[in-house]
Amino acid sequence: MDILSDKNLYRPFAYIDGNWVAADSGEQIDVDNPATGEVIAQVPRLGRVETERAIEAAHAAFADWRARTALERADILMKWYELMLEHKADLGRLMTLEQGKPIKEAEGEIVYAASFMRWFAEEARRTYGDTIPGAKRDQRILVTKQPVGVVGAITPWNFPSSMITRKAAAALAAGCTFVVKPAEQTPLSATALAALAEQAGVPRGVFNVLPGDAREIGETLTHSNLVRKITFTGSTPVGRKLMSQAAEHIQKVSLELGGNAPFLVFDDADLDAAVAGAMAAKFRNAGQTCVCTNRFLVQSGVVNAFCEKLAAAMNSDLMVGDGMQEGVNIGPLINEDAVEKVSDHIEDALSKGAELMIGGRRHQQLGGRFFQPTLINGARPDMKVAREETFGPLAAVFSFESEEEGVRMANDTEFGLASYFYTRDLGRTWRVAEALEYGIVGINEGLISNAAAPFGGMKESGLGREGSKYGLEEFMETKYLCMNIN
Ligand code: ADP
Repeated sequence: MDILSDKNLYRPFAYIDGNWVAADSGEQIDVDNPATGEVIAQVPRLGRVETERAIEAAHAAFADWRARTALERADILMKWYELMLEHKADLGRLMTLEQGKPIKEAEGEIVYAASFMRWFAEEARRTYGDTIPGAKRDQRILVTKQPVGVVGAITPWNFPSSMITRKAAAALAAGCTFVVKPAEQTPLSATALAALAEQAGVPRGVFNVLPGDAREIGETLTHSNLVRKITFTGSTPVGRKLMSQAAEHIQKVSLELGGNAPFLVFDDADLDAAVAGAMAAKFRNAGQTCVCTNRFLVQSGVVNAFCEKLAAAMNSDLMVGDGMQEGVNIGPLINEDAVEKVSDHIEDALSKGAELMIGGRRHQQLGGRFFQPTLINGARPDMKVAREETFGPLAAVFSFESEEEGVRMANDTEFGLASYFYTRDLGRTWRVAEALEYGIVGINEGLISNAAAPFGGMKESGLGREGSKYGLEEFMETKYLCMNIN
């Protein structure tokens, strides 16, 4: 890891109770660079026993952490925030190496990830309760908020840093302690966060990182009656499984799952603004985000004009390559399965009559996991791209006639995370915003994530919200005190 200016951020270990440890078995997981396929590190493959140890440590640390004042916890989170920004360049490089996203985007994610530390440091002091007029003359009613306890988190590879801080900052601010299993592809970003937590003064046992066997760690977290909350970001099938496992001890559950985001463009839209929004909402992280547009739904009068403008923007603005290289804004896909899924969606669409406008296959010069940004027109609801999340740089354009038909197509999915629409008509803005069955609606806006806003989905896209004041609630119990004053 010669490319890091602070070598202390490279920690190919697990972090339990303030100690850097290996797996009891000595087993390891290879971490590779998606741009080259080269193995860049090995981290411990932890299992049940180490997870139980981490849960015990988090449970032991809970008593002191919850007893601290909100300001004491906030000060530590602010220190952690500052350290993340100070080490932005190194954290970004580590992320690009193990995840593949372009270095500018990786640094952008570090700033975004750190913003949750700051946001929840500020919110920590505002976990207000309530007083409620008594139901009887001699009774008084108070409502207080308390941390839920030990939190078990499981996070994905597409946002290796921010999916951890969005959960951890809220949990720690509320007074909870935290055990996280990062994705096997991106453990180094997680352990680098732990190294900074240590420097920031997060006490031992409060924040633990367990790279390892996903199924075994998930089962151990959900079978423990010391873990009071499970928070997960990842695919819907794994979320469904964790939710059913969490039923054993009625653990609280938050789930941020898959999406199938529609992006509607109405006849009256500002097409240049819609294309700029489309580029932002489609190609970030090479299309590998759960809020990335999966379906462009464009009203028939402007569909060809929209496709031409989008094709022009894709040709002039997108540069595929190793994320470490200056100017690159589309990195490799995470693995070979991802390349195959995108290819399969394209082949399926073309075989059913869609028209290929740009791209269509693995990158010709670069090969490997690099994929050409692809545009298809004439997509239809019977194609895979209409039903499944592609998670890659494929822009599929469908057309619709009426507002009603556009909204019906947008809602015709079991998912309900992010949606977008472009119009300049005020009445339509309200109607469509209300009708979309999505937790997030971007209106004439393609970038919707920030720490101040509640992120989360409806239907099979999840439960609960992250970020914002609502994100803090997810880690607190509401307690009702009924007092007799005689
Ligand atoms: P993706 O397809 O994006 O990798 P997953 O849902 O498979 O989505 O992965 C998200 C996270 O869930 C990762 O940390 C992964 O290791 C973890 N995971 C995968 N399978 C399980 C499981 N059976 N139990 C618990 N966690 C799991």
